[in-house]
Amino acid sequence: MTEQPLSHNHDDTTRPLRPAILSGLRGKCPACEKGPLFARFLKPAKSCAGCGEALDGHEADDFPAYIVILLLGHILVPVMIEVNHAFDIPLLWQSIIWPVMALLLAVAMIQPTKGAVIGLQWARRMHGFAAALPEEKDAAPLRR
Ligand SMILES: [Zn+2]
Repeated sequence: MTEQPLSHNHDDTTRPLRPAILSGLRGKCPACEKGPLFARFLKPAKSCAGCGEALDGHEADDFPAYIVILLLGHILVPVMIEVNHAFDIPLLWQSIIWPVMALLLAVAMIQPTKGAVIGLQWARRMHGFAAALPEEKDAAPLRR
């Protein structure tokens, strides 16, 4: 008995995962790694200015925010504990410093994280990127 592939369309070699995620982290198009991925801060461009690849097929939704919250907790809490061990900072100052630090880190991390999620979805042909396969261009895109 021969093993049947799950789908004949899964060609991961044409869309390598690691370069796509790294391009997204840098805010670049996952296809050509040159054109800008974002038109505005968190608004991806409809298509790449460099290669014309459609970039509006992502469904990142809240996933980048969940990743940022998870990472932020793992970065900020140990720093808070270490700083409190090393210095005697008044509680009033801490109630200002830590929320501001959390806000600045979240703003700094959200765009690269969203870019990485879009790169992941592009590389794995998820959601709207599934219709980019040549043999599926005429078919209706898969929707939930
Ligand atoms: Zn491109």
